[in-house]
Amino acid sequence: MCGIFGVSHHPEAARLTYLGLYALQHRGQESAGIVAVDDAGIARTHRGMGLVSDTFTEDILRSLEGTTAIGHTRYSTAGSSVLVNSQPMLVRYRNGTLALGHNGNLTNAAELRRQLVEAGSLFQSTMDSEAIVHMIARSEQDAPEDQIRQALLRCEGAYSLLITVGHVMFAIVDARGFRPLMLGKVGDATVVASESCALDIVGARIVCELEPGSFVRIENGKVDYLEPLPAKPLTRCVFELVYFSRPDSFVFGESVDLYRRKLGHVLARERPAPGADCVFSVPDSSNAAALGFSEESGIRLEHALIRNHYVGRTFIHPVPAGRDAKVRIKYNAVRDIIAGKSVVIVDDSIVRGTTSRGLVAMVRQAGAREVHFRVASPPTIGPCYYGIDTPTREELIAANHPIEEIRRYLGVDSLGYLSREGMLTASAGDSTRFCDACFSDHYPTALPSDAAKLRFEAEPARAR
Ligand code: AMP
Repeated sequence: MCGIFGVSHHPEAARLTYLGLYALQHRGQESAGIVAVDDAGIARTHRGMGLVSDTFTEDILRSLEGTTAIGHTRYSTAGSSVLVNSQPMLVRYRNGTLALGHNGNLTNAAELRRQLVEAGSLFQSTMDSEAIVHMIARSEQDAPEDQIRQALLRCEGAYSLLITVGHVMFAIVDARGFRPLMLGKVGDATVVASESCALDIVGARIVCELEPGSFVRIENGKVDYLEPLPAKPLTRCVFELVYFSRPDSFVFGESVDLYRRKLGHVLARERPAPGADCVFSVPDSSNAAALGFSEESGIRLEHALIRNHYVGRTFIHPVPAGRDAKVRIKYNAVRDIIAGKSVVIVDDSIVRGTTSRGLVAMVRQAGAREVHFRVASPPTIGPCYYGIDTPTREELIAANHPIEEIRRYLGVDSLGYLSREGMLTASAGDSTRFCDACFSDHYPTALPSDAAKLRFEAEPARAR
């Protein structure tokens, strides 16, 4: 998954983008990048591995001159985690400088790449997104919007995109609308962001959420809505609401926080835990769901698990650590709250089951008398091909084990998942507009011919 942010017509475009990316850090922590374009169409870029705050310095931001800028935070779903795979990509072609930031995953990337390589394209990265850049450059159309449209008509899967050609910016959402994209205004400048929390941080007001199929051209802050991409059935990613987006964002027309509370309400009705002394979340992603569970059940909400906010991705284990060490580094239990109690732990999802198992062991060690685990989504049974980094089906505990076995593996007295219907109908909008393939195994597109994340790392010699 990734976060994208763009600004048109602002004297401090790169600085605003830096702030916006900072608010979108949760969408990707592997690399961060900004491309800024000045009014003459000259583009400058800086990209680095790691967090936004580690990648940019005051000097670097000052060097990124221009009134247009786009930025990207990356969490790899296609291609390995190396600098050449960071975004925005920046190339020069016959219409000038071209930069692209992509959130999502193309499901026909392998076919597109094969065709392009056969036709002579030289790929620099192993990202699916690079195929879009090649198709734009190879288009026989003259106007950038026509080149982009022609390229996108060949793409299948999930894409929310920010593209600049010279200082003109394009914001596009695939016709199924898998990933969110918000449009806002700050003064005369126009701002586009994956989530509304990134509009808030730069003081922008929300103008609208871009509809699925939107194709928008933005020049000097002025927004033109071009002809939308051909319509397809809507498949908004329900996992954006369940886990991925920040709770202070509006996504797919609704408050993420209120949606998650509602999940907690429904979960408490569907899978009650009568007689429990307290309920608590696995912070922070299930805070709102646990609050909802408490509101609905009347069971007292506690903060019984404390999360260390300084755990980075590259933490070095200083001593040989046991199986649950990863969990202990990130979380600790508040003994006085838990000792002797019957407790309900609410989490948003169980993926491999390793985090939950470690947490349950920790809560038991803290003296819990009974542990009831409640999950604010249905069993995760399928990998995502649309931009969420889920493990393979073999690693998904619920794809391979019945609930009673999972309960025993976690070591809990009871285990309850939310129903699929409960998850979908908790939405304030139309409950049929979602992709819930990771929970239902019903995929709305043809599956990629080769879904391995590192599929382009070892291409056959002929395709090099
Ligand atoms: P696991 O140990 O694999 O079962 O991890 C489950 C935890 O990971 C849950 O607490 C979720 O909040 C979180 N989670 C769910 N999906 C993802 C994802 N795609 N990437 C990272 N964390 C996730």
